[in-house]
Amino acid sequence: MSKYQLGLDFAKQQDYLDELSDYRNKFHIPKDKNGNELIYLTGNSLGLQPISTKSYINQELEDWANLGVEGHAHAKNPWLSYHEFLTDSMAKLVGAKPIEVVVMNTLTANLHFMMVSFYQPTQSRYKILIESDAFPSDKYAVESQLRHHGFDDKEGLILWKPRKNEELLHYEDLEAILESQGDEIALIMIGGVNYYTGQYFDLKRITDLGHKFDCFVGFDCAHGAGNVVLNLHDSGADFAVWCTYKYLNSGPGSLAGCFVHERHAHNKNLNRFTGWWSHNKQTRFNMRHEFDVLPGAEGWQLSNPPILSMAAIKASLDLFNEVGIKRLTKKSRKLTGYFEFLINKLNNKDIKIITPTNPEERGCQLSIQVKNADKNLHDKLTKSGVLSDWREPDVIRCAPVPLYNTFEDVYFIVEKLKNILSK
Ligand SMILES: *Cc1c(COP(=O)(O)O)cnc(C)c1O
Repeated sequence: MSKYQLGLDFAKQQDYLDELSDYRNKFHIPKDKNGNELIYLTGNSLGLQPISTKSYINQELEDWANLGVEGHAHAKNPWLSYHEFLTDSMAKLVGAKPIEVVVMNTLTANLHFMMVSFYQPTQSRYKILIESDAFPSDKYAVESQLRHHGFDDKEGLILWKPRKNEELLHYEDLEAILESQGDEIALIMIGGVNYYTGQYFDLKRITDLGHKFDCFVGFDCAHGAGNVVLNLHDSGADFAVWCTYKYLNSGPGSLAGCFVHERHAHNKNLNRFTGWWSHNKQTRFNMRHEFDVLPGAEGWQLSNPPILSMAAIKASLDLFNEVGIKRLTKKSRKLTGYFEFLINKLNNKDIKIITPTNPEERGCQLSIQVKNADKNLHDKLTKSGVLSDWREPDVIRCAPVPLYNTFEDVYFIVEKLKNILSK
């Protein structure tokens, strides 16, 4: 017998039993113009605002108002070292050691800075391997790196593709690419959780494979951070990058995370772009000193960072710290499993979930393909009070986020989908 049941009563009961149900009250839930809460399933695009964010930002505004430049050293949370307040929680969240993690810049910028260090092409080994459905920004970034080094961006780019009439990727196909072209590949750069299908890759398996062929391996974990248990250190990946405005709820365009594996922490010979924030903290303000790079991920910082954005990240990380990613993913699996159950119970042969069914291979997102549908379907869902994400030609991406979504949310999205499709 399934652990899930049909009917609204089951959803209500699950919400009642949910030990994390209070966390919804710690977020601003968007409402329609009549004041009814929307069903928000786009936390994978922009996470909701924690109620506490305002007070974290206000603290810094006040210290700036009262102290001016003195706030660098004397603010309640001194700005000079503000990024360090984020390091431990962020490291814990992505399964890394503190020396391996820093919050800085934005996501695509970090990806480029990582490629300055970990994409070091030679005439015989210069290709970059990505998944064929990579997020466009990642694809554009690696193509521009190829051109920057004087290579052809079509010839130099290798795509790990799904098989015919499939959406998910097979590791055997990646192995085959490496067997035949491994000695030409300088870098493997994969979205840790694919943004389109929601497939969560085995980062360690990919890294081991890449390293066997002497390729550097990096991951874009924009859809992984705050969504799945990441073990970045144990994966052995050379680097990873992620944003904080999706599952990490830090606000539009907020700063990004960056991971550099410990084995590179003290390598001063790695090529990199630098600025005064990558310089030794003790002598940074002497301003004359010969460049002395900081060990670890901090050694890739360039600038003094925007504190207001970091304050929003701190507000969110404090919540994650309190809940813990383990408890969160436990609820997440239940919530998404329930979503999958209800979709399957529709018994509609035009509907197909393209996200993996194995909970180990996905986070909270389900990508639902609706045959013969067009954007009208998405518009109708929006009109009915559901915020979801439409991907051409026929996929709706929905992410029930365990911090603030409910079993009732999931029940009603499926009811609304059923009603729209039956008309
Ligand atoms: C969201 C996302 C981006 C967006 O990049 P920004 O630099 O933050 O604008 C890039 N790559 C992936 C995989 C994403 O999910």
